[in-house]
Order: sequence, then structure tokens, then C-alpha cells
Amino acid sequence: MQLYNKLSAIERAELIDKAGKERLTISFYQYHKIRNPQIFRNYLFVNWNELDVLGRIYVSFEGINAQLSIPADNFDVFKTQLDSIYFLENVRLNIAVEQDNKSFLKLKVKVRKKIVADGLSDDTFDVTDIGIHLKAKQFNEMLEDPNTVCVDMRNHYESEIGHFAGAITPDVDTFRDSLDIIEENLKDHKEDRNLLMYCTGGIRCEKASAYFKHKGFKNVYQLEGGIIEYTRQTKSEEIESKFIGKNFVFDHRRSERISYDVVSQCHQCGEPFDSHTNCDNEACHLLFIQCESCAEKMDNCCSDECKEVNALTFEEQKELRKGTHNSNKIFKKGRSKVLKYKK
Ligand SMILES: [Zn+2]
Ligand SMILES: [Zn+2]
Repeated sequence: MQLYNKLSAIERAELIDKAGKERLTISFYQYHKIRNPQIFRNYLFVNWNELDVLGRIYVSFEGINAQLSIPADNFDVFKTQLDSIYFLENVRLNIAVEQDNKSFLKLKVKVRKKIVADGLSDDTFDVTDIGIHLKAKQFNEMLEDPNTVCVDMRNHYESEIGHFAGAITPDVDTFRDSLDIIEENLKDHKEDRNLLMYCTGGIRCEKASAYFKHKGFKNVYQLEGGIIEYTRQTKSEEIESKFIGKNFVFDHRRSERISYDVVSQCHQCGEPFDSHTNCDNEACHLLFIQCESCAEKMDNCCSDECKEVNALTFEEQKELRKGTHNSNKIFKKGRSKVLKYKK
């Protein structure tokens, strides 16, 4: 029985092209106590591999978090299978706005401690005592309420390229950091203000809303299904979208455009621009925003130093890296002093 992916990304890309079939990019999650994550993981891998599912799936004692793509033809079978797992029956599937057949090139189902790295100890509060879910229309109404504080639960590099109009976007690198900052800023308004939260697909708000309730917040609301589901609803029900810019996503597309506003700038020249890239120097790989003309000028690198390294041969680069740590792991995601226009 095959329990792990065997094809390389290139081989997979070729297969997808050859098949010439439309694929759907889907994400979903569910908090639920899973007694044996490894057995559940194997079950999913075997069944999904058969359906030609590709993606990144995390399974843990606390639940499942899945981002995947699937041939549109296999969707019905996939859905029936999901519904046969009792805690996934009718789970909300977020379907990506822009489809891309190559959003994922491997099937990776991993057993993790948590389905989202949240830095929290679960024993301290009830993760199922969550905030009130709002649909797009209700979310818009609450956003208009002067008594509402709307908070973006994502990290700085995500909210930078797009967010809800008027939302607070904490300048944080981790989910854990944003919890403390928000609590501190709103400590005198735990009872009188509406705390309205959103994130990419809703999963972070599930945890955050339970956390804030545990901390004494009385009016906790969250956008059901996150920006992805909000956008689907605003389109299908012709509701006004109050999201400006792009939605950062965690596959190779990096973002989905929601509105034509460009709310960020190239980190190198300051011109309006809102597409992320990774520094082309393998030893750096810094995530940052780079416009097309800077990309050309800098050979897709974040700094002159990286540009010099990148111009060396592969062997020379390997020699240079010997004995040094991968700087990617030292520097925080999306932050570097070399980026003049990073706020
Ligand atoms: Zn630029
Ligand atoms: Zn670099």
C-alpha cells in the first residue's frame, strides 16, 4: 500500500498538463478530538491519493486542516467520502476564487501537534466555546456599527496587501503575538464594544474567538469561512464587498485579487505594488514585495548582497553556504533591514 507521495513536482506538473482536466482548489478545517491521528492520516492518504487529490493537510489530536486541489470530475466522490466521516459531514468547503490547476503538486498529509501553530496551551480554555459566526451581509452591517472594533487576525505580510476597510491590522509575525496586542489594546472595552474578527479561511478566528471569550470579552464575532467565503458570498449574492486589495493565500499563487485597489508598495522603490515574491538567492528566500522593474534591476533579489551571491555558480554558492546557517531561518518572515519601503 502506498502511504506517501512518490512523484516530484515536475513529474506531477507534467501529469496535470497531460490529463488536461480542470481542478478545484479547496480548503476546509474542523476542530474535533481525533483519537489516533496517524490512522486517520493513513486513511485519508490512501483514499485521496486514489482520487488524485493534491495538497497540504494537517491532522492532529485537535482536528484537521486541509488545503488541496482535486480534479473537478472527482469532486462528488470526494464529497461523499467526506460526508461519511461523521465529524466532517457537511463541513464547509472553501472553494478558491481563482482556479489554478497547479496550486498544489504533491499530496502531503502530515500528523502535527496542532492543526494551526498557535503557540497556545489548549488546557487553559475551551476551544469549542467560540464567537458568533457572521455571514458576509451581517459582517458588513457589524463593520458599519460605530461600536465595533474590527481586527485582522493575520500576520503583517498578509494584511499588508489587502484587508477590510477600517480594520486594525496588527504588525505581527505570529498569531500568538496578535492575541496579546489585541487584548492589551482593548482591555477597557471587553464588555462594551463588539470585537469583530476575520482571517483567511476562518480557522484562526475559531481559536482566537474562544481565547478572547475566555479572557472576558463579551461580544465576540467572527467572519464565517474567512475572506475566502466572504468573497464567494459577495459575488454570488451581489453584496457590496468591503475588502480592499488582495487576499494572501498559502499556495504558490500567493494571493487572490479581491478588489483593484493596490494598498501596498514595492519594498524596494516605494511604487504601488501588491505581489509578493521570494528572494531568488536560495540561501535568503526572503518574502517581500517587489515590482517588475525592481525585479529586473535586482535580478529578483532582495539586496545587492543577495544579487551578488545569486550571480555565482551553483557550486560557488554551495561553498559559500558551508558552515553558515540558512538565513531564512534566522530572519523573520518578510522582515529585513534591506527593504527600504517595508513599513
Ligand atoms: Zn520597485
Ligand atoms: Zn535576499
